[in-house]
Parts: sequence; C-alpha cells; structure tokens
Amino acid sequence: MAALASCATVKRLPQKETTPPRPKNIVLMVGDGMGLAQLSLTQSSVDYVLAIFEWFRVIGLSETASANDYITDSAAGATAFSTGTRTGNGMISVASDSSKLTTIAEEASEKGKSTGLLATCSITHATPAAFFAHQPSRKMNMEIAGDMYLSGIDVFMGGGWPYFDSSRLVTAGFAVKHGLDAFRNATEEKVAGFYNHKEHPPKMSEGRGDFLAPASVSMLELLNRNKYGFFAMIEGSQIDWGGHANDAAYLIEETKDFDKAVRAVLEWAKKDGQTLVIVTADHETGGLSMPVPAKPGTPPQAHFSTGDHSGIQVPVFAWGPGATEFMGVYKNTELYHRMNMLLER
Ligand code: MG
Ligand code: ZN
Repeated sequence: MAALASCATVKRLPQKETTPPRPKNIVLMVGDGMGLAQLSLTQSSVDYVLAIFEWFRVIGLSETASANDYITDSAAGATAFSTGTRTGNGMISVASDSSKLTTIAEEASEKGKSTGLLATCSITHATPAAFFAHQPSRKMNMEIAGDMYLSGIDVFMGGGWPYFDSSRLVTAGFAVKHGLDAFRNATEEKVAGFYNHKEHPPKMSEGRGDFLAPASVSMLELLNRNKYGFFAMIEGSQIDWGGHANDAAYLIEETKDFDKAVRAVLEWAKKDGQTLVIVTADHETGGLSMPVPAKPGTPPQAHFSTGDHSGIQVPVFAWGPGATEFMGVYKNTELYHRMNMLLER
C-alpha cells in the first residue's frame, strides 16, 4: 500500500507542474502594425520606460503570414489570432473557402464569459471586425456592422457610427452611448459606445485626447461584473496608419497612446490578480528600421522601406496567469489556440 501511494504521488507531481494557471479573464491588446522597431523608436523619443518594456518578462515571437501571402493584411492577421486559422488577405473570420470560423470571443461567450472590443478606429475595421463578424471582405462595413447585432459581444467602444442603425442596436439589447464620458458612466448590461459620429476617431495629433486608456479601464469594469470572467480585445489601431504614411511622428504618438493603455490595463490586472494580459501586433507596417544617426548623441533616425506591411515576426508580450504559454516562436494562429486552451474551465 505504501509503495502504491508513493508511486501515485510521484506520478501526480509532473502533471501538476505542467498545468498552467488558468486566468479568469483574458485581455488581448493589439498594436496594429506595431513591430519591435515601432516600439524602439517610440522608446527613444520619451524620457520614461514604456510599460511594454517595463512590465513584461514573458516574450514570444509571432510569425504573421496569411494563407495566401507571406505578408498579411490586418483582416487575415486578426483572423489568425481570433480563430486559429490562416485565411486569405482581406477576409474577416471566414476561411479561404468562405466557410465561417469560430472566434475566440464566440468561444468565450459559449463558456459564459462576457466579451468586449475597443479600438481607435471604426469597430467595423478589420482588426476588431475579426472578433465578431464573418464576411468575405473587410470592405463590407455595413454587413460587418450587421453581424454585431447577433454577435454576443457585450460591450464595444470605438468609431463606426455611420455603419450602425441605432434602433437595431437597441433591439439587440445595447444601450447606445455617445462619447467617452457617456461610456464611462454606463451601467447597462450591454453597451455600444461611439467616440463620435464619424467613421474613425481622430489621430492623437488631431485631438483624440486621453481616450484609449480610460475607455480600456471602463470596459474592463463593465465586463468584470460577470462572475465567470471575460475576454476583451483592445486595439491601438492607428499605429499602422502612421506606418503606411511613413510618418514617424504619427506612429510615435499612436504607440505612446497604446502603451499608456497597456499600463492602465496592467495596473488593473495587477489589482485583479486573475487576468492574463497579452500585447502583440498583427504585422509590422512600414519596414521600419533605425539607422545610425547623422550626429552621434542625437536620437535615432526613422527609415521606412515600404508604405505597406512587412513580413517580419512581431513580438508577443504576456503577463499574468498562463503567461508562460506565450513563450517561444510560433505562427500567429497559436495565439488563438493558447488563449482558447486557457479559457477552458
Ligand atoms: Mg487594425
Ligand atoms: Zn495596414
């Protein structure tokens, strides 16, 4: 009997050690087009340590290709980590043959968790769309908005007002909130927030203001009312647009704003103690590099090698219960598989 008991004890130990701690909540934060060069350039322009460089010890690399191109677009890039399947560029959470894929937000809903989306662009834009819509083209903004009504998403905030029908949102159970203050004061179960009545919130340099960080915390508070936890996706959408424009100042302002939201989410998660925070990108934009400055001691220069995306791997930073699952070098689809494994209760 004694031998059996000790044998059983020895057998159980390794199993216990290899089971990762399960987070109650997962917050996926996506800096669209945010490669390591974007982070490094932004770090060189500020006199503090970026939260992304200060907080994380668990770091991985994501290979960003799509099903039909080594260089992904944001639709296929988000579909990869939202559904675990690589699709063709431009497609929103459908496979290359247009069949519907299940998203991580739908998986979370299925498990009784609340779900939320926040972006600094239209909520119908490729990255957030891949978490609630299923359409063959990212250009189908009206159809993408139409998928929101039956999506099971509990809270969203961003642009996109021109694509939505207020009465259909209300019929679907959403309380519609206009502007950050109204969103922050929301108490309803399902909340649809719009930054303003335009397609996209403005750039930081054109007066967006302190939006992403406070809206992130408000969304987490709304979602955290569910005792079974939540899944949230928060996007710094316009880092990519600074890259496409080869505009270093635009890119830096947007990356700083995203990093501020990352810090706010990490501070919230630290207090909560049951939240996994993952920060990554769908791809790099601009083929950015930092050549030696003309004069020693001056800040590094920004050199863009393309006005489009590049195929370089992007970093994955993870913090909280289950974070170590995100170490290593893997395909973008692994983000879905690892998050989904951790969501199992
Ligand atoms: Mg995007
Ligand atoms: Zn782009």
